[in-house]
Amino acid sequence: MTATVQDFGPEFTDYLRDESRRTGRAAAIALPRNEDEVRHALQVARQRGWTVTPQGARTGIAAGAVPEGGLILNLSHMNHMGPVQPGERITVEPGVVLSELQTALAGRNLFFPPDPTERSASIGGMLSCNASGALSYHYGPTRNWVRSARIMLADGDTLHLERGMKARARHVDLVTGAGRRIRTELPLLDMPSVKSAAGYHVRPDMDLLDLFIGMEGTLGIITAAELQLLPQPHCRNALTAFFPNEPAALQCVHFLRGETGIRLPSPPAAIEFFDAHALNLLRQAKAGNPAFAKLPALDSRFHTALYVEFHSEDPAPVEESILLTAEHLQTAGVGENDTWFAGSAREIETMKDFRHATPEAVNLLIDQRRKQHPTLTKLGTDMSVPDPALERVMALYHQGLAGAGLEYVIFGHIGNNHVHVNILPRDMDDFQRGKALYQEWARAVVALGGSVSAEHGIGKIKTPLLLQMFGESGIAAMKHIKQVFDPEGRMNPGTLF
Ligand SMILES: Cc1cc2nc3c(=O)[nH]c(=O)nc-3n(C[C@H](O)[C@H](O)[C@H](O)COP(=O)(O)OP(=O)(O)OC[C@H]3O[C@@H](n4cnc5c(N)ncnc54)[C@H](O)[C@@H]3O)c2cc1C
Repeated sequence: MTATVQDFGPEFTDYLRDESRRTGRAAAIALPRNEDEVRHALQVARQRGWTVTPQGARTGIAAGAVPEGGLILNLSHMNHMGPVQPGERITVEPGVVLSELQTALAGRNLFFPPDPTERSASIGGMLSCNASGALSYHYGPTRNWVRSARIMLADGDTLHLERGMKARARHVDLVTGAGRRIRTELPLLDMPSVKSAAGYHVRPDMDLLDLFIGMEGTLGIITAAELQLLPQPHCRNALTAFFPNEPAALQCVHFLRGETGIRLPSPPAAIEFFDAHALNLLRQAKAGNPAFAKLPALDSRFHTALYVEFHSEDPAPVEESILLTAEHLQTAGVGENDTWFAGSAREIETMKDFRHATPEAVNLLIDQRRKQHPTLTKLGTDMSVPDPALERVMALYHQGLAGAGLEYVIFGHIGNNHVHVNILPRDMDDFQRGKALYQEWARAVVALGGSVSAEHGIGKIKTPLLLQMFGESGIAAMKHIKQVFDPEGRMNPGTLF
């Protein structure tokens, strides 16, 4: 067709999917190597009346990168990393993969704090979803680490947005690369106070850059991003503690967050959770699949686990925090042999691999079940609630699942009251019951002041949940924003709305 845009053929079938395991369809695909080729691809799409689905590394789990016809615009070939600039900043193209960035920075003793568990994610995808991860408990989501970004709109025009370019109250006044003026009023939206990646981020006086972080490819294409880096923390320590029951682990979360009257001198950088079912799944994976053979053995008395990581410039506060945590663990019935400690980067990586093994084991199990039930997928939640609602929401999950007789695991970012419940349906009947339960939880989470998506985004599979969270008027307000930047509705249709 053209050098940049190719007809869609069977050799591109992989590009119809992401980690949601949903499969889409497309008329054409472009794998641009620079901004000019992105613009050209967008122009071709416009001439042909195609919609455009941006893609990064397709590790998303909400089907945001799954095309519903039109053009796939995959940014993975735009993967140039600039030099580190004074002030510890780096400008990268969107296709740069997180693990490559991390490796490049480690050699310079620098790090980029956002860490979605899946390190093959691209920077463009991370910005577009406002990705988080374990370390977001301390460092916040991707949004906090972006200084500026270039966005190409559906008509090929560009926006260069720097931190500090603000809305005046709700008034937006931007000039595009072609000199076009974009003026609009931001709607009033009730944003949750919890960790959230659900819908557009809108606040009076906001940095306008933040509107485009978390837009899930619905407003334009991120073609470059300037990231804020940090020096590697001098001291990094971690522990994984295994509890005899779940309430003791939840009580430890309150302790670690400083809610029980003791403040740790070095507050945790990450607090991660594994319920009893997640530990059992890891035991089974280790026993039955050579790919998991390297996982450490889990004693049968280990019921629930927490992974805690500490970062500090100075060893003393971390050492004291670990000591205080160990004292707390003893009172919670966690003996010395029930805790693993990691003091080197390598040991921490091994513990993180253990964390990553949980969603991987889930995906493999579901892939096996799909052989019998091809339309089966896991049902993975991504909801967060305010601190005081932690026990309530955990009880809601366990009781609902036990009542419905469903298989499941729960793991994730409990420091932010943000766990992933993964329902593991055995057949389509399980799937339907799980889906109904998920809807029920979403209603409850919204009523508790939470978010229906804390980090994965809404994509194409959680649009009813976004409606539940923001109501008809909130959705209409978000559609108004989309209309301003993408008047022809070309960008990533079916995502968010
Ligand atoms: C095992 C596993 C664990 C995970 N754990 C986490 C986790 O802990 N935290 C977390 O946040 N996420 C997690 N994820 C989800 C996923 O890794 C993140 O959402 C990631 O940010 C997606 O990046 P990507 O490059 O793969 O984007 P894709 O999946 O390709 O796309 C995601 C969205 O971004 C849009 N997009 C991509 N690139 C661009 C661009 N350049 N311009 C505009 N829009 C674009 C797409 O249209 C789509 O809507 C996990 C995924 C897996 C498989």
